[in-house]
Amino acid sequence: MTLLVAAKIVWAAGCIGWYVIRLPFERKVKRERVIDARDRLRELVLLSCSTLGLGIVPLLWATSPAFDGANYPYSPVQFALGTLTFLFSLWLFRRTHRDLGKNWSVTLEIKDAHKLITGGVYRHVRHPMYSAFFLWALAQLILIPNWIAGPAGLIGFGILYAFRIGREEKMMLDTFGDEYRAYSARTARLIPGVY
Ligand code: SAH
Repeated sequence: MTLLVAAKIVWAAGCIGWYVIRLPFERKVKRERVIDARDRLRELVLLSCSTLGLGIVPLLWATSPAFDGANYPYSPVQFALGTLTFLFSLWLFRRTHRDLGKNWSVTLEIKDAHKLITGGVYRHVRHPMYSAFFLWALAQLILIPNWIAGPAGLIGFGILYAFRIGREEKMMLDTFGDEYRAYSARTARLIPGVY
C-alpha cells in the first residue's frame, strides 16, 4: 500500500469516527425544545462552506483525479503528524460533545432547558468544539499532500468561524448576561491562555 492510499484511509476513517461520535448527540438534542434560533439561513450557508472544505473537496481529491495537478511530494513524517493531529482532534471533539450534552446545536440555538456549561474542557476555553474543528482542518492540511484539498478545510471552517463567533457570543450574552460575561473574562476562545 502506498503512503497516499494510507492517507486516504486515515482521512476517511477520521470522517467516520467524527460521525460516530456525533450521532448519539444528534438523536439526543432532537427531543429538546428550541426557544431561540438565530440567522438560520445564514448559518446553513456557512455550514455549507465548512462541509465543502472539510468534506467534499478532500473526498474529490481521494476519489477522483480532479485536483491531481496540485499534488506535491509526500513524506512518512507528514503522514504520521497528520494522523496524530487527526486523533487529537477526534479526542477533543468527543470531550466537547460529552461536556456540552443537550446544549449542543448545529446552528445557533438556545434550548428551553439551556444551561451554561463552564466545566470540563469548557473550563479552559469557551469554544473547544471549534478548537477541535480547527485541529481537524489542520490535520487535513498536514495529511493531504495537495495544495487545494489540503488547505480547503481551514478555509471552509475558517469562514464559518469568522462569520459565526461574534453572533454566537452575542446570543450567549443575551441569554446568560453577567454569567457569560464573567465566564468570557476568565477564558480564552480557542487556545488556553493565548486566544
Ligand atoms: N462554540 C461552542 C459550542 C458549539 S455548538 C464550542 O465551540 O464548543 C453551538 C451551540 O452551543 C450554540 O448554539 C450555543 O447555544 C451553544 N453553546 C455555546 N457555548 C456554550 C456554553 N458554554 N454552554 C452551553 N451552551 C453553549
